[in-house]
Amino acid sequence: MARVEPSDAGFTVHTADGQRFFARWLLNCAGAWAAGLAAQVGEPVPLVAGHPAMLVTEPLPLFMTASTGVEGGGIYARQVARGNCVLGGGQGFALGESTARAGQLAVLDILRNACELYPALAGAQAIRTWSGTEGYLPDREPVLGPSATTPGLLHGFGFAGAGFQIGPAAGEALAECILLGEPRHSLKAFSIERFRTSTRSNAPCA
Ligand SMILES: Cc1cc2nc3c(=O)[nH]c(=O)nc-3n(C[C@H](O)[C@H](O)[C@H](O)COP(=O)(O)OP(=O)(O)OC[C@H]3O[C@@H](n4cnc5c(N)ncnc54)[C@H](O)[C@@H]3O)c2cc1C
Repeated sequence: MARVEPSDAGFTVHTADGQRFFARWLLNCAGAWAAGLAAQVGEPVPLVAGHPAMLVTEPLPLFMTASTGVEGGGIYARQVARGNCVLGGGQGFALGESTARAGQLAVLDILRNACELYPALAGAQAIRTWSGTEGYLPDREPVLGPSATTPGLLHGFGFAGAGFQIGPAAGEALAECILLGEPRHSLKAFSIERFRTSTRSNAPCA
């Protein structure tokens, strides 16, 4: 999507390769890149991109049956049935607008912290590292629900490190907004309005 033209009937979306689509409803689910469209409709948000660092070890004897993590402590781990441990913690770095690497410092931190927390990992080899790009809002909660300036536009972004867990429920809530006219559970706490500033234009975009 390169450009959006809202009208009374809906939205015309122009793509970078010259195609054009029309829809009555538009969902802004562009992850770490969602602030651009929000700003276009007069709803700027302080969304920043983050790049969690991850690694996976060689297969090890099973020692962990639950997905575990230290609240606020920047380390989490789970072991898959084959024995590999998937470990995460800290931040990597961006290579470009949509690619990222875990980075040596973050990987070393993960290994050091993980060995302290899970002694069974002592001497384990990391066989792969990776990262990615996700969007964070200052309160670490997503923006979810209708735009306050543009009827027919719904926002669903800023899931930070929890998008796999809450994505299905978030999708259901947005579907209810469209199909039922409102969600079964209030989305007020996640409204984009919480980032409204006094200087923000509240006029629907042309
Ligand atoms: C390394 C890593 C590990 C993670 N681990 C976990 C985990 O264990 N558990 C968990 O719950 N979450 C985890 N997350 C977080 C999870 O990946 C995100 O919260 C989730 O992907 C957010 O989903 P989304 O659909 O909002 O955004 P995204 O998955 O980022 O999808 C947004 C999409 O919009 C597209 N897009 C952007 N701009 C445009 C445009 N202008 N036009 C068209 N398309 C556009 C992007 O290309 C992208 O495909 C992890 C994230 C990373 C990076």
